Amino acid sequence: MDNIQYPIQGSCQCGEVTYELLAPPLMVAACHCKECQKLSTSAFSITAMVNADSVKFKGPMKDWSRNSDSGNISAAKFCAGCGNRIYHFNPNEPDKIKLKPSNLSDTRIINPTVHVWVSEKQDWYQIPDGVKTFDKQP
Ligand SMILES: [Zn+2]
Ligand SMILES: [Zn+2]
Repeated sequence: MDNIQYPIQGSCQCGEVTYELLAPPLMVAACHCKECQKLSTSAFSITAMVNADSVKFKGPMKDWSRNSDSGNISAAKFCAGCGNRIYHFNPNEPDKIKLKPSNLSDTRIINPTVHVWVSEKQDWYQIPDGVKTFDKQP
């Protein structure tokens, strides 16, 4: 991801929510848990962990939250218009944001170097060489 230029613009599918990512993510992870399969409507979801002060959001978002298996609250923000998921966060750790980076204009960023909840992974998906894997949440 060396030649990705920051800031990168992001937008939901309808364009009501836009944002700007000012700095490279701390980590990009794929999660294979069943909740993320539902969320992504795919075999796994991709999350970019970023510092809350390196992203600026604009536009109306709605909230939803659930209790996660780790005992934390997983809170979600999504576009009020099109429902596109924008980011997740733990209300007890507001300085970190789990951005859903497929909304960014430079999609080279959606290249996970860590795969979690591999125990719930779909059998047909082969984890690439050279990435870290965890059976559950590390
Ligand atoms: Zn939208
Ligand atoms: Zn997950």
